[in-house]
Amino acid sequence: MQKIEVEDARLIKSQQYIHSSYLIVKELVENSLDAKATIIKVIIDDTLISVEDNGEGIEDLKSVCKHGHTSKEDTTYKILGIKNDLEFSHGFRGQALSSIKDQCDIEIVSRTRENDRAFSMNYSTGILVACARNVGTTVKVYNLFKNSPIRKTINQKDAKKSVAKMLHLLNSFIYVYEVCFTLAHKGKVLFCEQGSKNTKNFAISRFGDPCFEIQDESFEFYLFPFDKSKLKVIMFYKRLCSYEKASQIIEKTFKMYHDYSPSYILLLKSEGDVNVSIDKTEVILRSSKHIESKIKSELDKYFAAEQTFEGNEKKIKVATPNQLASSCSSNNNLNPRTSSNVYSRASEENCGWSLNKSEINCESHSDEKEKSHVFLEAISGSAYSCIKEEFLRHKELTIEKDDFSRMNIIGQFNQGFILCSLRKDKRELLMVVDQHAADEIYNFESLNNNFLLKRQKLLDPITLNLNPIQEIAVEENMAAFNKNGFEIKDGKLLTIPVYQNNFFGVEDFFSLLENLEKGLDSPSKFRNIMASKACRSSIMVGETLNYKEMKKVLTNLSTLKLPWCCPHGRPTFKILSELSLQHL
Ligand code: ADP
Ligand code: MG
Repeated sequence: MQKIEVEDARLIKSQQYIHSSYLIVKELVENSLDAKATIIKVIIDDTLISVEDNGEGIEDLKSVCKHGHTSKEDTTYKILGIKNDLEFSHGFRGQALSSIKDQCDIEIVSRTRENDRAFSMNYSTGILVACARNVGTTVKVYNLFKNSPIRKTINQKDAKKSVAKMLHLLNSFIYVYEVCFTLAHKGKVLFCEQGSKNTKNFAISRFGDPCFEIQDESFEFYLFPFDKSKLKVIMFYKRLCSYEKASQIIEKTFKMYHDYSPSYILLLKSEGDVNVSIDKTEVILRSSKHIESKIKSELDKYFAAEQTFEGNEKKIKVATPNQLASSCSSNNNLNPRTSSNVYSRASEENCGWSLNKSEINCESHSDEKEKSHVFLEAISGSAYSCIKEEFLRHKELTIEKDDFSRMNIIGQFNQGFILCSLRKDKRELLMVVDQHAADEIYNFESLNNNFLLKRQKLLDPITLNLNPIQEIAVEENMAAFNKNGFEIKDGKLLTIPVYQNNFFGVEDFFSLLENLEKGLDSPSKFRNIMASKACRSSIMVGETLNYKEMKKVLTNLSTLKLPWCCPHGRPTFKILSELSLQHL
């Protein structure tokens, strides 16, 4: 057995600490934050990483970049449990700069407030010179991973992923630091934001209301149910960390009600151990069980009290007696435009309806005739107040796609709605299906499924100038781009789609890129064309339907990918009431 040379042992250790451009940036930005900087600029290209700040500066440049050298020893003792209640700092190991120095070339320019000039130190040559600079520090790292060819190649290959992670890092810090962060990649500014310490207000200013929040001794949680940017920030104090179990609980609960991922910020404040993984992103929390169960129960409570029609592909939850009751109490004629918050989001493009008279077309299946007779008595006269009372006892319900084909048709209401009942979970529901919206979404999906856009080759391919994040998204969704008539090669657009007299352009390419994020697989312009086409060929309000036609509308809904709303956003159905069994 031989003892490894000190230099080799050090390099082996350094390689463990720092193994990607992302980790270099993370360590440098955290150093700037520890130095109380209020402006931090990250500049990167294929061969260089530079992080500039206006922090406190480094007093003695000769003593940095040495293994185990830190000015944050208070935090070290805190981590070891020797000291308590000290100011937070990211660093406590004195390993980052020395590990970077062992694998790359590094140069630091720094000036403290007490000094009238700056100093620049090149750690590869050991040369220290005086120079000009404002108070603060610039760390330049180049010749990345010069002594490890495999790591160098892998790091170059993963460059885009690294940039995506850097963006996420900065985009997380802005919710806890009053700092202006900039990230420039190959001369292009990808990110420039002024952060704030007031997490809640800052997040609301970016994502808007509603904001679901939990304030607890051991954590703060903010979730934005209608934001689709998929921001996920989990922090242990001001440290970006991962917490798989909590993420899974949040995602799983949210996806019961929506077909997209939620945007949320979870700030952990309980006691925990952060010295677990090399990149300090793992945390062992003392109160993890409490945090997980509280998030789950509060989320369940919140969503059970929310009426949402942006359902996922399989099912949709509808609920809230109070919301339904209050939304309906403002309108006594069941006019769907104002009778519920859901309808207020609907498009005003077409189909104005008003239901001032309670006409029922009772051409329904013979089995249903008796029932519909009862309802005719339950709906005319004092029907509305009766329904309102029912809402108050209305508990959470889950409507699944198959339920549409199981609905019993009672009759047509006001030549615009199919009035039906649904027996579900030992409960009987009275529902209306909007005949136009339902048929329109069926026609829309059919058109979309069977339609292939023609491609037109461009004589002069268009350079897309995609940033690394967009490049990743395009690569991952190449099939969807091709289906929509966009052929892309080496960052250039080779073909564009054409449909009849409609020409698509580079803006439609970006519209598709944006829509894919929201789970929609065609550009907005094409969706609008298809929606108008679907609208024109759909059953209109005012058309009388017989039983067979009504049944077809309902069965069609059960076959769709997203049967919950028409392509303009109006819900296809509404639950009017839960009926007590004595009505039947
Ligand atoms: P740690 O952050 O764990 O102390 P590092 O190797 O990251 O270890 O940094 C070593 C030391 O260099 C820090 O403790 C700090 O004193 C100094 N330092 C590094 N970057 C900066 C900076 N941007 N501004 C001020 N001081 C810095
Ligand atoms: Mg550090």
